[in-house]
Amino acid sequence: MANDSLRRLASDLKTFLAAQDEDEFITAAAPSRAAAVVSGGEQPASKPLPKMPEGETLTVEFPRAVVSPRQTPQTSSAAGPAAIQQPPSAATQLPMNTAQKTAELAQLAETIKTCTRCPLGATRLNAVPGEGNVNADVMFVGEGPGFDEDRQGRPFVGRAGQLLDKMIVAMGLTREQVFIANIAKCHPMTDPLHPEKHGNDRAPNAEEIACCRKYIEKQIAVICPKYVIALGGVAAKALIADAKSLGALRGKFYDLHLDSVSLPRPIKILATFHPAALLRNPGWKKDAWTDLQMVMDQLGLKGARK
Ligand code: SF4
Repeated sequence: MANDSLRRLASDLKTFLAAQDEDEFITAAAPSRAAAVVSGGEQPASKPLPKMPEGETLTVEFPRAVVSPRQTPQTSSAAGPAAIQQPPSAATQLPMNTAQKTAELAQLAETIKTCTRCPLGATRLNAVPGEGNVNADVMFVGEGPGFDEDRQGRPFVGRAGQLLDKMIVAMGLTREQVFIANIAKCHPMTDPLHPEKHGNDRAPNAEEIACCRKYIEKQIAVICPKYVIALGGVAAKALIADAKSLGALRGKFYDLHLDSVSLPRPIKILATFHPAALLRNPGWKKDAWTDLQMVMDQLGLKGARK
């Protein structure tokens, strides 16, 4: 019996490591938990997360935004230039029930759609607030919208998004069960004068991230997932607040600390590769799968294998 199990694990691991493109992610990754044995990372904490006592609330204060001259919106109004937009509410009561979360996130999305706190607001086609289950246990956070997302106003809908969908399914979840968002809500472009161009994507810079981070922080605080999975080095460095490379950050859990929000309970964050990077480097999928399995182990997810 033991030999049979070992042979099956070895076979599944071999299949996963052989995956060459995104279409093979599920068939390679999902069939087995065997790839967990290749994890060289620190093991996650085994203790259950402490719960907020029932009825207890925390007040979340949003400090007034500081916008440098370079970050001052390009648009102006009759009321005068550089009107700084604030997050939708000065204080938010946490934790929230489903209706409260839905309303809060909808209000935040409306604010994001008209936001001009940084120059990206002047060149986007659509802001991309994020979408998903307001009660998700897992929240995926990328760096910013790309070409397809800018057109549709939805996160991770291009090729990288299709691979993310497969990664989610491989974990034993659906896109409807998780929440997906980005650090920056508007499309950062290398050539903002030509948003119609393909291959015009870039990562958000430090100023853009600083301007926008209150939105993702509020989304995380409202949803209060058990785990945040940062996709790529930009999101990982911003949320873990560590300048190390993604290679140094991934493979272990961190306690999530947010600048503008006190969380109702601890949230763990894990960094892994951005799906776009996995498309360019299929050989990294085995490490991404190892990362995802760390979260699966904590949540008791068996993966997509029948
Ligand atoms: S990227 Fe963020 S801060 Fe900048 S305009 Fe868009 S929503 Fe506002």
